[in-house]
Amino acid sequence: MTSNHSLTKMKLFNPEFPNKSTGIINGETSGLLNWNDIAYPQMYTLYQTLLSNFWKAQEINMQDDIKQWDQLSPTEKDVFLRINTQLASLDSLQTPTMNQVMDYVTDSSFKAIFAVISQQEAVHNESYSYILSSLVPLHEQKERFNQAKDDPIVRKRNQLILNAYEGFREQPTPENLFKLAINSINLEGIYFYAGFAFFYNLARQQKMLKTSTMISYIQRDEMQHAYFIAQFVRILLSENPELNTDENKEYVYHAIGQAVELEKEWAHYILKDIDGIDLKEFEEYVEYLANKRLRQLGFQNLYKERDNPMPWIHVFSDEMMNDTKSDFFEQKSRTYTKVSQSNGFDEL
Ligand code: ZN
Ligand code: ZN
Repeated sequence: MTSNHSLTKMKLFNPEFPNKSTGIINGETSGLLNWNDIAYPQMYTLYQTLLSNFWKAQEINMQDDIKQWDQLSPTEKDVFLRINTQLASLDSLQTPTMNQVMDYVTDSSFKAIFAVISQQEAVHNESYSYILSSLVPLHEQKERFNQAKDDPIVRKRNQLILNAYEGFREQPTPENLFKLAINSINLEGIYFYAGFAFFYNLARQQKMLKTSTMISYIQRDEMQHAYFIAQFVRILLSENPELNTDENKEYVYHAIGQAVELEKEWAHYILKDIDGIDLKEFEEYVEYLANKRLRQLGFQNLYKERDNPMPWIHVFSDEMMNDTKSDFFEQKSRTYTKVSQSNGFDEL
């Protein structure tokens, strides 16, 4: 099977095949998942880590942020709303994409992890809507979501991701799955960070802490998604050596390099009037992130090696991946922030 052939959409149930798949793509598998009998046992740990992050928007009571909202400057409000809907649009695209991949991945343990990621993207998407509904009326929410569709810089940066995603939808080949995965790493591991920096910068000034708490949960999820997808790519390449070409290696450096440039461009555009964010430092931070993603893929650094130039962004660093339940901003367990079902939308 060469990388130009379409991937086979497996039948749901193939009792003649083993439960443990013979490959992550084009494998033979019954379709039944026994977590104790999987090809890559470390995937069970990853699955459990993802589940241990479980949270939902309504656990966070937005009352403090609602009270603070009118103390933000008009520029802060505008940037807040633009970033909120821009991040929501990335999650809107990621939810169905992770789901679609499940049809072509033959290892059931990977399918299960893609299902969890898809569910988490849906939660992220909802949480941006939840923040928005706490702060502005419906007509402005709609306007802001339309703005996210039309903004030329947002369109330009999203186009890179969309080309790879649409490419796989049209032609689900191993090559296109590989490209989709690299672009997913860009989305999960690079594209969110100008937005995250904005919210954490507000939090550093004790502003909109509930929003930042939610953002920190999202960041933790995204970081683990990027890590999982990097593992997926490594296994895809090792099981399918025909994908391990110089051209594809070049593709990785090129696609990640492009994402870095687009994220810098976006940061200069959206954060230029925000006090407290040094854009030069942010550029170095994006390069630092890109190096991290490349090393997770088993590739070389594309940029100068440096320590994290913006340690205050990294609430949940890769090194702290398992330190999952503490709340950075409020210094107490997040379980204390749980509120009753009636909080949230109902109070507004
Ligand atoms: Zn997400
Ligand atoms: Zn994600």
